Amino acid sequence: MVYYKTADEIELIRASCLLVCQSLAHAGSLIRPGATTWELDQAAEQFIRDHGAVPGFKGYRGFPATLCISINEQVVHGIPSKDRVIQDGDLVSIDCGVLWNGFYGDAAYTFPVGNVSEKAMELCRVTEKSLYLGIEQAVAGNRLGDISFAIQEFVEKKHKYGIVRDLVGHGVGRQLHEKPEVPNYGKRGRGLKLQEGLVLAIEPMVNMGLKEVKTLKDGWTVISKDKLPSAHYEHTVGVRKGQADILSDHRVIEEAILQNQELQPLRLTTAIA
Ligand code: MG
Ligand code: MG
Repeated sequence: MVYYKTADEIELIRASCLLVCQSLAHAGSLIRPGATTWELDQAAEQFIRDHGAVPGFKGYRGFPATLCISINEQVVHGIPSKDRVIQDGDLVSIDCGVLWNGFYGDAAYTFPVGNVSEKAMELCRVTEKSLYLGIEQAVAGNRLGDISFAIQEFVEKKHKYGIVRDLVGHGVGRQLHEKPEVPNYGKRGRGLKLQEGLVLAIEPMVNMGLKEVKTLKDGWTVISKDKLPSAHYEHTVGVRKGQADILSDHRVIEEAILQNQELQPLRLTTAIA
């Protein structure tokens, strides 16, 4: 069942999404070569609990942590660990969810650490731009497939990267994952008709090489089959007439990146076409 949210419910989701982005910014402020992914996870959990909220992922289907931290060829669902040390040149994708006042928020961001190759920076920029192209389509009267098509067209047709099929975006509300699924590939004009009140997590996962992925033996970590790097950017958005309402706020994260000398901002370089 698809749940359409009231204006008041959307404000609660916005608050949860802002806390998610502040948590991502806090984790991002601690990224440096030599830091473990466990340290970031501990800091994010404390930050969320200090705000009176609950980590949205911890315990979800048995996931053991607050953050999913996925480095380089890891696409999503990486488990934070004391053994995983961040290195110069890594792409560190962090996904976070919180439950606050009865509603979830969900957002993700890929942080380029230090001397990241120009190819990997391009992967990040293309992935991020594909997210915003998808969001442009999240308006009342469009179809779900318009979002999917916009992302796939840009990533695969224009930039020849692999868009992951096995994992998709989703509705967000009282549940972390609600209907409908929001694939990052599909046909224009197909699928659910978008209406005001629909709240969607749009989250392209883009592989530098092939689109195929596999899950490691830990049962969670998804990696690209060819082990080439992958990037992941996610916003939670509210469908409206005319223009989508972006409920999460990546600017909070981008400010933290500018403050952290160990990180590469995406935006100081030329905008991509
Ligand atoms: Mg997420
Ligand atoms: Mg999500």
